[in-house]
Amino acid sequence: MAALVVGHKSPDTDSVISAIAVADLMSKRGIQAKPVTQGDVTPETAFVLDKFGLAKPEVATSVAGKQVILVDHSDLAQAPSDVKDSEIIAIVDHHKLGDVTTSSPLLMWVWPAGCTGTVIKAMYDFYGVEVSKNIAGGLLCAILSDTVIFKSPTTTDDDKKAVESLAKIAGIADYKGLGMDMFKVKSAVDGVPARDLVFRDYKDFDMSGKKIGIGQLEVIDLSMLDKVKAALAAEITKVKAEGRHSVFLLLTDIMKEGSEMLICSDDPSVVKKAFGVDGDKAVWLPKVMSRKKDVVPKFEAVFKA
Ligand code: MN
Ligand code: MN
Repeated sequence: MAALVVGHKSPDTDSVISAIAVADLMSKRGIQAKPVTQGDVTPETAFVLDKFGLAKPEVATSVAGKQVILVDHSDLAQAPSDVKDSEIIAIVDHHKLGDVTTSSPLLMWVWPAGCTGTVIKAMYDFYGVEVSKNIAGGLLCAILSDTVIFKSPTTTDDDKKAVESLAKIAGIADYKGLGMDMFKVKSAVDGVPARDLVFRDYKDFDMSGKKIGIGQLEVIDLSMLDKVKAALAAEITKVKAEGRHSVFLLLTDIMKEGSEMLICSDDPSVVKKAFGVDGDKAVWLPKVMSRKKDVVPKFEAVFKA
């Protein structure tokens, strides 16, 4: 039975492409593996899959009784709900170590890089397996997506080196142009229900016993969201009412390099404590690009205090 390779809930391009690439690498090493996702892919990911002729993985939300490889996360909250009844045989990730535990030894590739794709490129090199042209293109896009074309503070030299070498394999001369095309697709929000936008790139966190939701929309120009902002604010109020202490939605302008944060919280003063900026409905946070690096640690520190 093939091991299921799965990324986090609300799958982003890294979670989907990493599942495809790790399944490919494992299969080429003689370990049967199949990529799956915990939900439908975003328009950005659909663009990448189409561009490089990669098949969209099946959706699987149950992994009980299966062997599992987690990519792009190691938190129980981000994993399939019955992951405790599976056997986790490997984790490939670039986030802080989560709360997943295993009863047997496992393969772990967890690096402080900007993208799981960067770690996977190193795995291919380590195992001496050639990266195919289409997977190279997919991994390259995953890295450009996660690092916001190297503008995110999470970007490392390893990410840049991986992109250089993947661009050669994929035959892409202008990878920054490709990155912009991808972010243009990501920026298109017309006709998309507000709820889908809130959950497009969304994570719940347990911060000192409080459930905190943080979503993010990355656009090439914040004005593209003017028409939907009121609906987004109304929607996070609903999401908060579903049993959360706070819901924050980052509207990130990748050209201006900052984020407007929409706020709905039992205690909006946490925003002032975390970022030093006043505002109980919305604030502009210059230079804040990364949920993982610029936002989550600040809120965690405030909630711990
Ligand atoms: Mn991700
Ligand atoms: Mn990632």
